[in-house]
Formats: sequence, C-alpha cells, structure tokens
Amino acid sequence: DVAAGAETLEACVDVLQSVFGYEAFRGPQAQIVTHVCEGGDALVLMPTGGGKSLCYQVPAIVRAQGGRGVAVVVSPLIALMHDQVGALTEAGVSAAYLNSSLSLEDAQRIELQLRRGDLTLLYVAPERLLTPRCQAMLESLHEQGRLSLFAIDEAHCVSQWGHDFRPEYRELAVLPERFVGVPRIALTATADALTRADIVERLQLQDARTFISSFDRPNIRYQLVEKKDATAQLQRFIRDEHANAQGHDAGVVYCQSRRRVEEVAQMLQQAGFKALPYHAGLDAAVRQNHQDRFLREEGLIMVATIAFGMGIDKPDVRFVAHLDMPKNIEGYYQETGRAGRDGEPANAWMAYGLQDVVNQRRMIDDSPAPDEFKQVLRGKLDALLALAEASDCRRVRLLRYFGEESQPCGNCDNCLNPPELFDATEPARKLLSCIYRVQQASGHGYGAGHIMDILRGKATEKVEANGHQRLSTFGIGADWSETQWRALLRQLIAIEAVRVDDAPYNTLHLSDGARAILKGEGEVRLRIQAERAPSRSRSARA
Ligand code: ADP
Ligand code: ZN
Repeated sequence: DVAAGAETLEACVDVLQSVFGYEAFRGPQAQIVTHVCEGGDALVLMPTGGGKSLCYQVPAIVRAQGGRGVAVVVSPLIALMHDQVGALTEAGVSAAYLNSSLSLEDAQRIELQLRRGDLTLLYVAPERLLTPRCQAMLESLHEQGRLSLFAIDEAHCVSQWGHDFRPEYRELAVLPERFVGVPRIALTATADALTRADIVERLQLQDARTFISSFDRPNIRYQLVEKKDATAQLQRFIRDEHANAQGHDAGVVYCQSRRRVEEVAQMLQQAGFKALPYHAGLDAAVRQNHQDRFLREEGLIMVATIAFGMGIDKPDVRFVAHLDMPKNIEGYYQETGRAGRDGEPANAWMAYGLQDVVNQRRMIDDSPAPDEFKQVLRGKLDALLALAEASDCRRVRLLRYFGEESQPCGNCDNCLNPPELFDATEPARKLLSCIYRVQQASGHGYGAGHIMDILRGKATEKVEANGHQRLSTFGIGADWSETQWRALLRQLIAIEAVRVDDAPYNTLHLSDGARAILKGEGEVRLRIQAERAPSRSRSARA
C-alpha cells in the first residue's frame, strides 16, 4: 500500500529529525526503516560506518509510539551496547541493556522497567537473552503483544563460515519459533554468499527482504606488499605515509599472535612511535585503559590481535596495517574497514609472505574440524591469497567477492602503480617439474625450502641424504634467488597449480592447474615488484 508506506516513511523521517537531529536518511535506510516499521523481516548488509544502527532504532521508536512495545537488540559487544544506550538516553529515548557487566540490582531494575512497558529499546547479550529467566520475561511480553521487533546486530556471528562465529548466536534460531509474528532484522557489515545463506537459514529469514548497500569504501587505499623484513617495512610505511610534524596518525596494526603483538608494540615504542599492545592475554583493566587511550588521545598506534576492534567507533583511524595475513577476505575487509570511517583518506596496508600462507594452512589442517569444513576454510584462504597475488585492481576483486561488480578504482597499489609483468612460464615449468620429480623419486612430497635447494643446486645434507642432487632438476634454477622462487611459488599456489598439504608436513604437490602449464598450454605471468625489477634473473648468478 503506497499511501501507508508514505505515511510510515513520514513518521520515520520525523523521528530521524526530531530525535537524532539528522536531515535525511542515507542510501537504503529509508526503505529499510519503512519495511521494518510495517512489520517486515529484513537482512541488512551494509559496510561499517554505513549507518546500520538507525535501521532498527528508528523503527523501534516509531513502533513504540504506536503502542507496540519494546524492541530487543541482540549484540555481542558490551562496549557497543553501553555507548548506544548512552547516546539514546541522551537523545531522550528510553533504552537499557542487560549483560554480564550489570549488578543484580541494576538488572532487576531494568527487568521492572521492561515489565512496566517503560522501555523502547533493550540491548541484550545473546547468552543473556537465552537464559530461561529472560525468555520467560519476553514470552510474557509477547503474549501481551508488547514485543515490537528483534534486531540481531553482527548477524554474521551466527555462521560458522563467518570469521567471528559465536555459538550463542546459533541458539538464536529459537527466536522465530518462540516469538511468531515479531519482525526480525538481521544486520552485518560483512557476509559473503555462504555466510549470507547461513544467516538466512539460521534466523529463518527466507521471506525477509534483503538490503545490500555497496561495500565500497572509496577513501580506503589498499596496498598489499611482499613481506621481507615486516617490522622495518611497517616503520617505513608509517614514516612515509602517516608521519606529520606533531607525530603520526592513529592506526591499528594487526598481528597473528599475542607474543608478536608485544614484540611489535615494543619495537614501535623504541623507534619513537606512540604504540600500545592489545590482546586477550592482557589484564582486563590494562586492555580497557589502552582502548580508552586509543579512543581519546591523538595519534596512537594500537598493535593488536583481532580481539581488538569490533564495535570500536573511532572515526579518524588513518591506517590499518596487517603484519600477518588474515584468515580470509571477510576478516580482511572487516579489519581494514576500521580505517577512515570519517570518509577522509585512509590506508589499508598488508605485508604477506609464503610463511603466512603456510601458517594459515597449518592452522586449518591442525584444527579438529571435519574435513568438509576445512575444505571451505581452505577455499576462503585461497581467495585471499589470490587477492594478495593479484596484479589487477584490488578493489574490483574485493567487491566481486561480496557479489559486486565495479571498475578499476584508481586508489589501490595496482591501479596507481601497475606491476610490471613478465612471462614466467619457463621458470614455472622448472618449479613444477622439480616438485614432480622429487615426489616421483621419494614417493612423497617435500616442503618449499627443500624444493628450492634442489632447484638452486644447493647440495645440503638433506639433499645428499636423499640423493636429490642426482635428480635431473637439480640446479636448473640456479639463476634465480630464493626470494624470486618463493614469489613464483606463491603465485602458483594462488592459481592452484601447486597445493600445500599437511601430510607429511607442509609439503608441495602439483594441483589441477599444473598440467596445462607443464603441457605448454598455460602461460604464467609473474609480477615483479618495482624494487626487485632490475635484478630479474641475473642477480643470483652475480
Ligand atoms: P554502522 O553500525 O553501520 O557501522 P553506525 O550506525 O554506527 O554505522 O553509523 C555510523 C555513523 O553515521 C554514526 O555516527 C551515525 O550517527 C551516522 N549516521 C548514520 N545514518 C545517518 C544519517 N542518515 N544522517 C547522518 N548521519 C548518519
Ligand atoms: Zn584499484
């Protein structure tokens, strides 16, 4: 009904202006709030900073005004709940949260408000929501028709394919069953096709309308560089692109492990940067203190594991650096998305190397997950590797991963500085033949280091012990440095000509893509990084 729709939208705009003080809805917000206000289910995919909160806050207020009761917002993030409730209260909206940070007294006070019908929005941690006590309370409200909607924030947490699976989220499947007829709106800033399908299935959103905003963050410049001396490269990156007369920009540096976080934070401090560590192994008070300082002070660099960042709303983070490769593109996108939320230019910089790929593979292989699950994780890792090895526009690839087609962006390393490509088919054949011969001679594969030694004609103890110096491929790659061979190997992994297996241990094997190259049917174009370009094939000989 068009007339009713217009009337609903009018009520929403009214709330937007009078309560939040904003002039107009952005992008798909108008459609979303109208749809949800009228009782429809929705799946909202919107990048970080896109304005997801208003998508449920406005309908919650409009529906409360219409006597439909309280909106329940499921959120995994205590800090975020706290901030949002604070902001809403300030704007004169009656909101509260229930989570583990509350005293029994406070919790009881909020439950009383809830029963009295005094609340417009209630934020609840998922594990809290699922307690019998909370369920009973909501059921009684539901019977009286006083549950206006459920909003499920960070909905990708429901999916084990997502990068932030939370088992409690899985239990949210009870919502559509227990609270029939209460509209549900699920929101996330990151979901590839698989995760999206999982959200729909878990939360029974088959009939929901899906709203997808563009995932493009045009102000973020993507740069993915080959890892050599990662910490030196990081320092150079910050000095070159983020230093100013006052010091340096605020940024986040992500590392894989707690130990690495500590090391890098210390290294940056010693080099004169204002840097702090953040990981789950630190004392809660220390963590809180570092987080507060990061939000409050100017130009602080947070060196962190992925434990840091979700729900932290700092608009002027000027760079996000990855010293280790994330697990998949969703994680990468989510983490880099924390840069430049104010819309000003920002950098997403990553250093990656073969060891990253090997480590990530090993974590997958060693996990107790079932095989088909591991297969999915490997596929996701490969997609990120392909992004890292790409010689065309990073953004085009990134957006395509989320189902969006676009044109070369002019604001990524490959667009700004197109890598020189050369025909590496011959070296690729050498490398593939070497892997093949070794496998044939030994009955099993070997790791990258050993293969390179054979290729480059290094008669190590291990080479001699296995008689590999007698292979026809011994020394056929002596004209290339190990670095060059590793770069080629990464690209062969990325195009699925080589795979790294866990048995016996990180061994190299030929994969489907190898055949065409060996038969001379496929061409391999290798990227040359500018600083390495002149050396090509002569340097190793010199
Ligand atoms: P997300 O949760 O998608 O990351 P938020 O809901 O935190 O994004 O919104 C990001 C910022 O944009 C907030 O500061 C919010 O107040 C602002 N914002 C959202 N929608 C609008 C709008 N229609 N007009 C003006 N500012 C908006
Ligand atoms: Zn580009």
